[in-house]
Amino acid sequence: MKTGGITLITTHTNADFDGLASLVCAGKLYPDAYKCFSGSVCSNVKAFLEAYPQGILKSRSIKLETIERLILVDTREKHRIGKFSQIADKTPISIYDHHPSQQDDLTGEKEEIREEGATITILLEILRKKGIPITKEEATLFSLGIYEDTGSLLFPTTSSSDIDSLSWLFKQGADLSIVSEYLEHKLTKSHLLLLSDLFKSCRLYKIRGIDVVFASAKPKEHIEDLASVIHQMMDIERFKVLFCFIETEECIHIIARSRVEEIGVGSVLSCFGGGGHGQAGSATVKGMLKKIQKMVLANLKLGERNLSFLIEKRLPKWMREVISVLSGLGTGVYLVGGFVRDLILNRENLDLDLVITGDGIEFAKKLSCLLPNSCLTCHRRFGTAQITLENKAKIDIAGARKESYAKPGALPEISPASLKSDLKRRDFTINTLAISANPKDFGRLIDFYGGITDIQNRTIRILHPKSLADDPTRIFRAVRFSSRFGFAIEKETEKIARDVARGGLKHLSYERLRNELILILSDEYPEKALNRLSDLGVLGFVWPGLVLKKGLFSKIHEELFHLAIFLEGAQTWVLWFLALTVGLNRGETEEVIKKLRFRAEIRKKVLEAKAKAPFIIKFLQRKTLKNSTLYKRLINLSDETIIFVLAKTKSLLVKKRIHLFFATLRKERVYLTGDDLISMSLKPSPKFRKILDKLLSGHLDGKIKTKEDELRFIERFLGRDS
Ligand code: ATP
Repeated sequence: MKTGGITLITTHTNADFDGLASLVCAGKLYPDAYKCFSGSVCSNVKAFLEAYPQGILKSRSIKLETIERLILVDTREKHRIGKFSQIADKTPISIYDHHPSQQDDLTGEKEEIREEGATITILLEILRKKGIPITKEEATLFSLGIYEDTGSLLFPTTSSSDIDSLSWLFKQGADLSIVSEYLEHKLTKSHLLLLSDLFKSCRLYKIRGIDVVFASAKPKEHIEDLASVIHQMMDIERFKVLFCFIETEECIHIIARSRVEEIGVGSVLSCFGGGGHGQAGSATVKGMLKKIQKMVLANLKLGERNLSFLIEKRLPKWMREVISVLSGLGTGVYLVGGFVRDLILNRENLDLDLVITGDGIEFAKKLSCLLPNSCLTCHRRFGTAQITLENKAKIDIAGARKESYAKPGALPEISPASLKSDLKRRDFTINTLAISANPKDFGRLIDFYGGITDIQNRTIRILHPKSLADDPTRIFRAVRFSSRFGFAIEKETEKIARDVARGGLKHLSYERLRNELILILSDEYPEKALNRLSDLGVLGFVWPGLVLKKGLFSKIHEELFHLAIFLEGAQTWVLWFLALTVGLNRGETEEVIKKLRFRAEIRKKVLEAKAKAPFIIKFLQRKTLKNSTLYKRLINLSDETIIFVLAKTKSLLVKKRIHLFFATLRKERVYLTGDDLISMSLKPSPKFRKILDKLLSGHLDGKIKTKEDELRFIERFLGRDS
């Protein structure tokens, strides 16, 4: 290798015959230059090179720092020239290419760019002008380039110059038998006809500013390996996104490819029962072509939606103002997760979730300064922060990050990442949606993983097969979302949930399970989700053999309904937890509480209700019971305990007495206060409490009604007692 700067000719990775032919031809125009592949080559090109070596170097044999000038043939896309992309911005380039131009194309000092059928046609014109002779073998290779890229002159991209070049190459001795030998590996005649039909039918749509092409054809015979035809189309025309609809007697095959991150074709096709990933997808459907194309287009357009109108329409004023403040703080700000999901579902969710593609904590600090009376908490280790607003609403802020698990269930390792990777670590597709809060595209919906389709199809779907094993609490979340929204858990997701449950929910974090369980129990009808958990085989992880007593749940609903107006601070989830564990004895209940690490206050409530309920029921069944006695028995019990008692008894007397307590007795008050007693020349002492209690009992039992009655009572009480 030379020690000074070199001129290097290269072509795109996965080089095809036009790339190879152009490389060899450019080598004749620049005899001192090195010819080098930028990466792999197509299989039929490889086979050709084994038979007819062309002395082309592999990219690893070239040191980047030795390159002084680049000559690109058959491409000007930076991401298609392998390692040479690293020097593309700082090295003079000459370009010979036939592809249509794109926004992010490299530019050359010298450019020979025309939309011919093949790049070799452009180079041959120059070669012929210069009168440089070629060998028969070269003529054969150059013909291969033209034949391949023009689909044997059938593609509409074929130009008269291609045909002219080909006729000249024949004259130079091109060997057609070699041409057909190597072309055959790629496309059969029926492939070529199909390609031609597809090209003729191309229709262009603009989705989010990106060109999306729909092509369709109805071949007369069955065609194997449709994917390679689509691959050819993408290669030849450099489509960004292509959907091909191949009609047969029975159905329509949709095959799609995408080169851009913004449009993931797999998710677009998932609503047809098909699938794939961002770059490639397929589906087989029955129906009318036009209708199906319309549906695909509608799915594509959904992903293009700008949701600023929903922000305007569905959010309260204070929240819109907060969003407007955070939007003014620069770029890289996105509303994400449950907030976006609920905005679309039109469900109230007043906690904002933000992802910042940058430093989340710095952003949170700036934002907090702009929100009056807000309180900021930062978690440096995780790069997250939380702002609590004056009205107690919360804003969660995180720098975009990705997580990797050293092993399932372990705490994830966190590193900065793109928005796309950040959304990828989420639990379900419906929680992967984001809305841009950046001024330049405020309100743009970002849907990398098919979240919109799943919301439309009312489906809970995990993002990858290991998701539930990595974090089994997601099974509980799936069930919660499914019962809360009335969505179905997608088949494969459900199957995996059952597999993970059978495997013993290894690596389950009980603290997180507790949080999820509380959320489930906080929903209005938790028995729906609890039944589903039982069906999936995971309820036993709360306690083995837990059985749901349906009757008890409906009785609690009934009592809650009747007493709703009297219950202020009742934690209904505790009631549902009582219902869930009604079959457990005290020791077992204590163990569950310990395992799930409930707070002491909750532990007290649960154990009290369980222990006291039978005694209270018995007590309230006494034949005679003064109101004041009833009051004293119930006043220190939690609402949860009393409702639990109600749900557990059939006794009408007990129910009547409890209702009397809630509706009347509990509201009873005395007129006099401690201050009144002092003004009656009494010294403050524990006796005060006794006197006031007696006054209250007098009221409850109907012996005292007015303030005067109270005063008289005190006179008598003092006269006898002091
Ligand atoms: P909710 O309305 O119950 O608050 P949410 O979707 O906002 O629902 P959060 O528990 O607040 O739920 O979580 C916020 C976001 O964090 C979710 O939307 C989801 O994207 C993500 N998330 C939460 N828990 C998990 C988990 N276990 N695995 C992956 N992603 C999760």
